Formats: sequence, C-alpha cells, structure tokens
Amino acid sequence: MPGKVTLVGAGPGDPGLLTVKGRQALEEAEVVVYDRLVSPAVLELIPDTARRIDVGKEASRHPVPQGRINRILLEEAQAGHQVVRLKGGDPFVFGRGGEELETLAQAGVDFAEVPGVTSAIAAAAYGGIPVTHRDYSSSLHIITGHAREGEPLSIDFDALVRARGTLVFLMGVTAMPTIVQGLLAAGMDGGTPAAMVENGTLPTQRRCAATLATLPERAAEMDIRSPALIVVGGVCGLGDALCWFERQPLHGKRVLVTRPKGRAGTLAGKLRGLGADVTEYPCIETAPIWPCPDMEAALEGIGRYEWLALTSPAGVDALWHGLRAMGRDARAMGGVKLAVAGPGTAKALAACGLAADLVPPVYDGAHLGHALAGVARGRVLLLRAEVCSPELPEILGRAGIAYDDIPVYRTRYGGARSQALRAALGSFDFITFTSASTVKGLLAAVGEDADFSRVTGLCIGEQTAAEARRHGIPVRVAGQATIDALAELAAVTDA
Ligand code: SAH
Repeated sequence: MPGKVTLVGAGPGDPGLLTVKGRQALEEAEVVVYDRLVSPAVLELIPDTARRIDVGKEASRHPVPQGRINRILLEEAQAGHQVVRLKGGDPFVFGRGGEELETLAQAGVDFAEVPGVTSAIAAAAYGGIPVTHRDYSSSLHIITGHAREGEPLSIDFDALVRARGTLVFLMGVTAMPTIVQGLLAAGMDGGTPAAMVENGTLPTQRRCAATLATLPERAAEMDIRSPALIVVGGVCGLGDALCWFERQPLHGKRVLVTRPKGRAGTLAGKLRGLGADVTEYPCIETAPIWPCPDMEAALEGIGRYEWLALTSPAGVDALWHGLRAMGRDARAMGGVKLAVAGPGTAKALAACGLAADLVPPVYDGAHLGHALAGVARGRVLLLRAEVCSPELPEILGRAGIAYDDIPVYRTRYGGARSQALRAALGSFDFITFTSASTVKGLLAAVGEDADFSRVTGLCIGEQTAAEARRHGIPVRVAGQATIDALAELAAVTDA
C-alpha cells in the first residue's frame, strides 16, 4: 500500500473534542507526527504500535523548522507509511496545515485532511463566551497576534473596530498590551467587555474577565500565560453567567487515581466528568494463581457446592482464567448460586454472561458473610486473594456453614520506585484508594516516608482507610463501597 499523510485536527485539548474521524485515523496510524499544543490526553490515544515523532517546541529547545517537518512528512509517506500529522485545534487555523499539504501535493503524495475543533471557538465556549450572539455581534474575526520573524505586528485595527464583530486573537499573549492599545487608538470603547481564556477546555483552564481598558492589568494580576485566547466584544459580558466549565464541582482539583494495572479507569472517567484533573497510576497488579489444583478440583466438583462467592473483579478474572485453561466455559458453573461482595464484582461476572444471585446491602466481605449465613444451606466455595481478610470465612464458620476458601489470585505491589510521583505528591488535592492493597502499592512506589500531609486520601471503605491512616495519610471514607460514592467524596466541600 502506498504511503499517505492524514492531517488531523486534535482539537483544543479536551480529548472528547477530537473528532470521530480523527480518532479513527489515529487508530490506523503507523507514524504520528505531532505538535506541542496537542494535549497529553489526546497523545494517549496514539496506539502503542505507532511510531511517534515530536516536532513541537520544548521549553529551551527550538521547534523543528517547518521545512524539516515538511521533509519528515514526505519521507515517511514515501517510505510507504500511513502517517497522521496531528495538530492542535484545526490544522488550517494558524496551523500551517496548508503549507504542509502544498509540499505533499507538489511531490504527488496521497493526503487527506480531518478538520478539528478550533480553540478560537472552543476555548471561548468553555469560558462561557459564545463567539456570536444576535444581541451582541454578527461577525467573528480570528486574528493572529504573532508577527512574522523580524517584522512588527501588522493588524488593521481600524477595520477591526469598524466591523463591530467579536474579535478572537490567537498567539497574542505577549502582544496583548499592544493589541489593546491598537484597538483603543482606533476608537474602540475602553468599556467593551474583553476576556482571556488560558488552557481552554483543559482541567487547568482559567478565564480572565475584564474590559478592553482593564485587560492588561487583570491579565498581569492573574499571570495569564500561553496558550491563551484574547476575546474582545459584547459577548464576553456573558462569561460570568455562562461559564459552565469552571463551575464543575471538581474543576481545578488534581486527583491521583491509584488502581490495578489493566483495570479500566471507570473512577478516573467519573472524576473527569466532574471536572477534575486526573492522573492515573496503576500501582498494583493482580495475577491469577495458575496452576491452581484446588480451584480445578473445586470446579470439577462444582455440584458439591450450593454457593460460589467472589469478593473482587480480580477473583472473577482468576476464575475465568482457570476455566479457560481447563478448556471449560460458563456451563461448568452448573446450577451453583453466585454471591458477590459488590456491584463491581457483579459487573465483572455479568461480562462473563453470569448474573449474581446475591449482593449484600453493604459492599464488603463481612456483610457478604452475614448475607450468605442467612441463606446458605449447603457448602460454600470462596475464591479469593492469596492475602485477604479472615472475616468472611470466620462469619461462615460461626454460622456453622461448611466452606472451602481457595486463594486464586495474588497481588504484586509497585514495581519501579517513582521519584517523579514522590516529588509531585504535594500537587494533588486527592488520592483515591479502592483497596488496602492500592495503599500498599502506592507506598511501594513513592517510599514509606513520602510526604502525604497536603493530600486527602479518598477511601472506598474502612479497611482501606485504616491502611491509609496507618501511613499518616489524611482520609475521607465513602459512605458506600462503590465507585460513585468514592467519586462523590471528592466533591464534598467541607475539606
Ligand atoms: N490551530 C490551532 C491554533 C494554533 S495557533 C487552533 O485551531 O486552535 C496557537 C494559539 O492557539 C495559541 O497561542 C493560543 O492562542 C491558541 N490556543 C491553542 N490551544 C488553546 C487552548 N487550549 N486554550 C487557549 N488558547 C489556545
């Protein structure tokens, strides 16, 4: 297959604003060439199999010159690769997308373009500013605030003022005072609403609301930095009323989500939905114990049991792993009734086509034990972790119920120590813990003596909280052991 370059707009930062077509192109890419303004959350969508080429500017390094970027695109495509050229916002809005495609067209290389959501409109929107509005403006002007190398800013301020539309300046942070001066000198009223939106659509977004005359002072007070938009016009006056994004309950909060490797980040997704800036850190790994002769024997003789109890999704994984290794499937469960500790485990079972018969009213091992003690007449099979709480079997034992407690998976902690994470701990508002082992896993990664004094641990239940407290981590405990209750804890304001 001949090579091809697809120029893709990555949107302004929020990964949800990447188009469906853009995402599809990324998934099929063999090489991805990307810029500085593409957000880390979008870069995460690049498949592991694709080669990444960063042509963006680093703090002290210069960006790769445009001519070199053009050559990279050409060479990669001519080598027969499917190349995605990923650019922040829309590639044709001050993105030099046109220049890159001209080079490819001249060389006869196959190409396509997937437009993106431009920051000029989206960052304003997330700042509560509709770029047009029948009551305030009937045109939109997108202007660069960046002059060509060695040349002064060339903006026709008179024309802009006469047009009476909404003005959006990109790349204008440095030149902002000059732009404001230019508009005032051309006769624009100093009381005209104006705003800047920094890091628009990202969890770190900040909006600076002002008037044209006060914008330089307000922006300096807030220390607004690039990337940011400057918006000028009556529509900016709506910002206070419409600024929905920064009003989300967790906007501006940084949350570290610890979780087992390979588990989908449901909690992370929920927290992001509430506006949090989430970093996911897989700090433990669960692995099925296999071969596992005890489980094998139990499953071969499943008819001897009335109930099978599972206390975590990792237990369900281990059961399934075992069944597959035995060459069996769901039918091997026969008529055994299924009890689980909570909805997460029930969901994992449901994914295997099995419905849980019993979920206790409170989601932990002790309540599962009491619930089983109330209904079980025959033998109970427990498939659990290698190291886990003795409560559940003790309760069954006291109730005179016969059981077999078989360890089917084990937990590994940490892995490599992370100095970077240790140093960054103080920058988080919250750390979530969904089990005592995630506390241990995090400590294994950052060191027992790490400083947790500035963060609050959000814990799924009392056992987890006890483990966190033991290491001096201030905690809040969820009222119910569910991911939803845990996410809601972060939004409690009495912190
Ligand atoms: N093609 C891009 C713009 C590239 S020019 C687009 O369509 O969005 C780079 C300028 O875009 C920055 O200097 C800044 O003014 C603006 N910009 C890009 N991302 C932004 C963001 N998330 N928030 C605010 N401004 C942003």
